[in-house]
Parts: sequence; C-alpha cells; structure tokens
Amino acid sequence: MDKDLENHGLNIIDIEKVYHTKNGDVHALSKTNLHVHRKEFVALLGTSGCGKSTLLRMIGGLTEQTSGTIIYDNRELTKPSAEVGMVFQKYTLFPWLSVEKNIGFGLKQKKEKTNAEIHEIVNQYVDLVGLRGFEKLYPKSLSGGMQQRVAIARALANDPSILLLDEPFGALDTTTREIMQELLLDVWQKSPKTIVMVTHDVEEAVFLADRVVVMSARPGRVREIIDIDLDRPRDYRVKSSQKFIEYKMRAFELIREESMKLMKEGI
Ligand code: ADP
Ligand code: MG
Repeated sequence: MDKDLENHGLNIIDIEKVYHTKNGDVHALSKTNLHVHRKEFVALLGTSGCGKSTLLRMIGGLTEQTSGTIIYDNRELTKPSAEVGMVFQKYTLFPWLSVEKNIGFGLKQKKEKTNAEIHEIVNQYVDLVGLRGFEKLYPKSLSGGMQQRVAIARALANDPSILLLDEPFGALDTTTREIMQELLLDVWQKSPKTIVMVTHDVEEAVFLADRVVVMSARPGRVREIIDIDLDRPRDYRVKSSQKFIEYKMRAFELIREESMKLMKEGI
C-alpha cells in the first residue's frame, strides 16, 4: 500500500480525555492511538466506564478531547458533521415523525436535494434495513429492533463516511440482537462505511469486526488489538467454528483481567 493510502481512514492520534467535575477530575481516557482503515469495521470492547463512549463521542465531535487530534483522510474532525453518522443504544428517533420522515430528516435539513430525490433515497434505505410496509408508522408502534433499524437507516441516508455505533443493540433481547447483527453486516456489505462500534459483548465484537480493539479499565487505553480473520459474508454459523471460539476466548480473557483489576480497586 502506498504511503498516501496508508494514511487514509480514521486516525486517532494521542487522544486523551479528562472530565473536570465539581468532585474532581475524572481521567476517562489516557493517551490513545488508533488507525481505522477506510471501510474497515472496528469494534471497541471494554469494561463499563473505560471510556468507550467518550472516545466515540470525540470522533463524532460531540465531546471535546483534552488533547490529541482526530483526522479522517486529511481533515480534522472537531465538530458534528454529515461525514459522521451515529447510532446510540437509547432509541433516539423523533417520535413525532414517521419512519420515512425520520430517515429523511438529515437530507431535508441539508436542503441540497429535491423532495423527489429525498423520497428515492429514503425508499432505498427502507428496503436496505427491511422496513418496507412500515414506512408510514411512528416510532412508538415499532419494536426496539425496528426502531434501531430506522436509526441505522437514518444515519446512512446522509451517506456518511464514518458510522459510529454505541451499543446499538444493547437494549434488545438476545435473538433480536443476533438478527440485527446479521442485518448490520448485510447493510455494511451493500453500503460500505468505516465503522467504529462500541460494545461490551465479546461475541458481538468478534462476530462483526475486522479487528477488535480491547480497552483496558479506567482510565481507558488500547490494551490489545485482535485481528479477526474470518471469511465474509459471515452468518451465525461461524460462531461454532474453532477460530471464532479462539478469538472469543482471547477477548474474554482480556476483559476478565480488566474486570478483576476494577474489583481489586473496589470499583
Ligand atoms: P464507557 O462507555 O466505556 O462505559 P464512558 O466513556 O461513558 O465509558 O465513561 C468513562 C468515564 O468517564 C467514566 O468514569 C464516566 O463516569 C466518566 N464520564 C463520562 N461522561 C462524563 C461526563 N460528562 N462528566 C464527567 N464524567 C464523565
Ligand atoms: Mg458507554
């Protein structure tokens, strides 16, 4: 790969975060470096409170870093932009808008496209996330899994270069969660983006990602990166393969060690 291409993608350089609170400083993230290739799927895995959401929010420009730089291709990311789409664990749809209006919201705001063009794009994403027939409904009449599909479609409709996912399936039951994981892989295959996904679920991380970044406990930093060399497209059957089990065990051991550290510190 030539030098220029190597530098493409998301570059997290010496990022650090200290929250100043009235009860003192909280060192959420110590100096962290990470390079995510264009269209790579990276999972951030770590114990609760290790700074995963903080890191994601800094990439998304929602939280300001204490020091360090975040660059995508050659541009520094400092504030929320259409280049970065986000989906959170908590359902964040606009309750007063229908499914299709939710998906088209960002495009409408931008005022760059005609209503007909927006309608066409929205329709494309309705199909992509399997919501055909539900597009006129309001969020309250949808299941959690469906609401998250709308949230994913809404994020993708703006055609971001980066998709940030913060435990997007955390509130779903196990089976729905597994189906959503497969759906996400399918969507990503058809509409490739650079994805950084936060999760504390070891199996989810290994199943989805090209690389699993295991973070150490508070203050967070990169503890180890596990390359997941499993063929794509992947479906749930890969979970019973020897390689999958080995990756899962490695990630599990690391997370266990980090949890034990927290316990010893009495947290
Ligand atoms: P994770 O997503 O890995 O569970 P977070 O990034 O949410 O972790 O939090 C990392 C640490 O920073 C935690 O100790 C948390 O309490 C603290 N923290 C997060 N957000 C804030 C905030 N806005 N103000 C003060 N402390 C915060
Ligand atoms: Mg979090």
